[in-house]
Amino acid sequence: MEIVFATNNAHKLSEIRAILGEDFRILSLADIGCHDDIPETADTLEGNALIKARWVKERYGFDCFADDTGLEVAALGGRPGVHTARYAFPDRHDPVANTRKLLAELDGQADRSARFRTVIALVQGTDETLFEGIVDGRIAPEERGTEGFGYDPVFEPEGLGLTFAELGVETKNSMSHRARAVKRLAEYLRQH
Ligand code: IMP
Repeated sequence: MEIVFATNNAHKLSEIRAILGEDFRILSLADIGCHDDIPETADTLEGNALIKARWVKERYGFDCFADDTGLEVAALGGRPGVHTARYAFPDRHDPVANTRKLLAELDGQADRSARFRTVIALVQGTDETLFEGIVDGRIAPEERGTEGFGYDPVFEPEGLGLTFAELGVETKNSMSHRARAVKRLAEYLRQH
């Protein structure tokens, strides 16, 4: 079965191909000739994932799934949430500035609990289905570790006492929010 994953991120593509195995041919946006700058204008992760998956289905005709991830910090009322990539600057993705801003906003906060949440929207024919993957944890008082990307040096998944950046990519990828959502998608696709 052929299905588009609305991304050109090579890491995400190889991760999902590894989980889905031989039964599915996963195409990227570049593979179908889509070079559109898809507007992510929704105010929820679900909304943005659906915009991307519907965009491909409506304009290119392929069944498609798309993901969106946010870091939800309890003491910040769930922010940065849908704005996680552009938390420090609304017009650009600056991971170093994002992490610095997060640590500054949480300075002196007793409650440092947070979670990563990934939503995947699947548009298959006329059916739309959502999948979710969550990792609960907390924001460390300072950056620790060198692996991974984004907020990895300050996110400690519950119970391990290490940040994602200290855990290493392989361990992190086996338990990440994205892996959890992708595994749910894979189970669904195998059953349908
Ligand atoms: P996206 O929806 O996958 O592009 O993720 C949005 C933003 O969330 C990214 O730009 C990163 O800043 C952050 N993010 C997503 N997943 C992770 C992760 O596994 N570790 C650290 N940061 C992440």
